Amino acid sequence: MITLEKVRQRAESDAKTHGYYLNPDPSFLGDLLEGLKRNEERYGYPSCPCRLASGNFELDRDIVCPCDYRDPDVAEYGACYCALYVRKDLFEGKTPITPVPERRPQEKQARAFETTVEATEGPSEKPVAVGKEASQVKMKLWYCKQCGYVVFREDPPYVCPICKAKREMFAELRMQVTGY
Ligand code: SF4
Repeated sequence: MITLEKVRQRAESDAKTHGYYLNPDPSFLGDLLEGLKRNEERYGYPSCPCRLASGNFELDRDIVCPCDYRDPDVAEYGACYCALYVRKDLFEGKTPITPVPERRPQEKQARAFETTVEATEGPSEKPVAVGKEASQVKMKLWYCKQCGYVVFREDPPYVCPICKAKREMFAELRMQVTGY
């Protein structure tokens, strides 16, 4: 089993190699590392803690941390989408950390979404994650009470990718479908 310390060391080493820094807020950083650890235990690879993973490595390859979008995001915005990796000026507080727009193509987001829904409701009932049967997965709609960001996934994200609010700020959105 992967330890939180191992996840932290891996991120620190990767940040150092690329001249980046890890988020300076210890509590926020801890949440992201915990998310990576949990995703690695669940899927077998550390998929991004702020995004919906399908559980299929080929579909999720681009969002295995550090994702394909990190370097262009840090170059353009000073931080990756989750703000796990940041540039020096943001680390030192000289530049504020602001929301980073999603760079992952919409087709890929949609594919992950479809795969998870199919796995939850579809006829094949194929497993979506290591050690977890599809029939056990319950997808829910979550919204961030701080900024209104909405996401469809099994559990709320560890950190809101838009306003960086913590998981506790997410609430389940319940929708009632009525007939005409
Ligand atoms: S956005 Fe950041 S935390 Fe998420 S996968 Fe990319 S590098 Fe990792």
